[in-house]
Amino acid sequence: MKQISKRAWMAMALAIALLAGLLIFVGSYFVNAKDWVTFPGSPHVYTGVNPDCGRIYDRSGMLLLNTDDGRVYSTDETVRRSTMHLLGDRDGYISAPLLKTYASKMFGFDVVNGLYTDEPGSVAARLTISAAVQSAAQQALSGYRGTIGVYNYKTGELLCAVTSPSYDPDNVPDVANDTTGSYEGVYVNRFFDASYTPGSIFKLVTAAAALETIPDVQSRTFQCDGKTIIGGQEIICNGVHGSLDLAGALAHSCNVAFGELAAELGAETLQDYAEKLGLTGSFSCEGYTVASGKIDLSQADDGDVAWAGIGQYTDQVSAPAFLRYMGAIANGGQAAEPYLMQRVRKGDDITYEAKTVLSDAVLKPETADTLTKLMRNNVQSVYGDWQFGGLSVCAKSGTAEREGQTANAMFAGFALDSSCPVAFVVFVENGGSGSAVAAPMAAKVLQTCAQVLSAEAAAK
Ligand SMILES: [Zn+2]
Repeated sequence: MKQISKRAWMAMALAIALLAGLLIFVGSYFVNAKDWVTFPGSPHVYTGVNPDCGRIYDRSGMLLLNTDDGRVYSTDETVRRSTMHLLGDRDGYISAPLLKTYASKMFGFDVVNGLYTDEPGSVAARLTISAAVQSAAQQALSGYRGTIGVYNYKTGELLCAVTSPSYDPDNVPDVANDTTGSYEGVYVNRFFDASYTPGSIFKLVTAAAALETIPDVQSRTFQCDGKTIIGGQEIICNGVHGSLDLAGALAHSCNVAFGELAAELGAETLQDYAEKLGLTGSFSCEGYTVASGKIDLSQADDGDVAWAGIGQYTDQVSAPAFLRYMGAIANGGQAAEPYLMQRVRKGDDITYEAKTVLSDAVLKPETADTLTKLMRNNVQSVYGDWQFGGLSVCAKSGTAEREGQTANAMFAGFALDSSCPVAFVVFVENGGSGSAVAAPMAAKVLQTCAQVLSAEAAAK
């Protein structure tokens, strides 16, 4: 009798545990079902690795992808190539973290009957990117590996996040057996997943640190005889610049002046600024984990710090991080966080609407103002205002040397125009000269941005 009673109690305890588990499950089912069904592997949502979630439009209302019945891409070949890395392919070689991030806002899963309730055509997502700007960037990068990013520094809307090479998802090439090298690294999204030796665009970081920590830096005179020795290392300049002030040193990208400034700032200050300006480590953006930047001066001597301050040594930056820094300068020291998804509409409901998020101030407003003037001077006195078609562009070029290879061509900056408030980065692998190769690419893309934004303003 005693034994039976013990067993009865045990059975009762098990029954209670079962009931409790059931309650917990049902509770969390109602709370989490929408997220569970959009989990990769759900056969209702994923045909491959990418979710099929309605219709995706660009900022101007151009249909980029319709998944109501399979994956149907844009009718325009260049648009298909330039947006594939954002939307994902059919086979799952290229994933779309952006769509996965917003999948739960797009699916109409009924928690009571477990049915997918959406009528074809009832879900529409509008991205911040412009198909026209994406196409212009893809064409500008044609034949090169690299990335172009453009974003509105007031709002954070990314108008362009292009990676090259790419291919047409409606006409997939035989990548595995390609011998031309045209598709090398084609599965990598170089905007989000790559980091680069910055070269001289990093002088904008050294300049920011110098403006905020060396009181007389703007009244200094630097002497460039074509080379100098810092901490036992020879720093070679791209020319013999003679006597220069800070503006002249930045405009001519003088390695001697910036090497000396970096050594004077020291490893700790330069490291602090790289971190404060968001260029080290990673951050997340619209489902992407942005490639880590690296400015590591922990083992650096004076000569290494000098090289780091001119964007060499072990420096690495990602496109989104440097783009955000350009945005911070343009926006008075506070960066708008970049984003890609503007709005998701499901039937008559708006299930997601983007908001502008500003960072803490990373620069003093007067530093941002001085850097703006210095970068404006670079364009007016060196790169040439003529190539930017009436936009007031502020910029810095870089030619990032890499051992045994053609240098990477870099160009970064922003337009001051209130009708086209965009920051940009152009990173071209093995491109050679930043001002000769990357600047004209930026000019083409900025012209398209100006056209798209003025058409938008006129339509309002
Ligand atoms: Zn020089």
